Amino acid sequence: MTYKITNKCIACDLCVPVCPTGAITIIDGQRSIDSKLCNGCNDTIYTVPQCIAGCPTCDGCVKANKDYWECWFDTYKKCIAKLTNKDNYWEKWFACYSQKYSQELEKKRSSKVA
Ligand code: SF4
Ligand code: SF4
Repeated sequence: MTYKITNKCIACDLCVPVCPTGAITIIDGQRSIDSKLCNGCNDTIYTVPQCIAGCPTCDGCVKANKDYWECWFDTYKKCIAKLTNKDNYWEKWFACYSQKYSQELEKKRSSKVA
């Protein structure tokens, strides 16, 4: 999850030195967060995003919305994780599928013989 600085930013610069990844830069007076460097403060000693924690405004710094495909893949990965975490999910699915398939084949064979 990445974060971004909005036009509500009052340029106090409190967030710049506290970012553990150095993702916040000031270029031509504009503060911005490099999405390639921002890791949402995950894997750091902090439990909350430091840019938001210290920002004196309500929404000078906010979570950046993900694009459509990022959301799509997140949902897909969650669904797959749920399925694959079930014990023997795929083995059961295959056993059930192959049993039904065999039954249908047998029905067709019987109808041809009759
Ligand atoms: S969420 Fe953390 S890593 Fe990302 S810009 Fe804010 S302080 Fe830096
Ligand atoms: S702490 Fe908030 S108001 Fe200050 S520079 Fe960062 S985003 Fe802007």
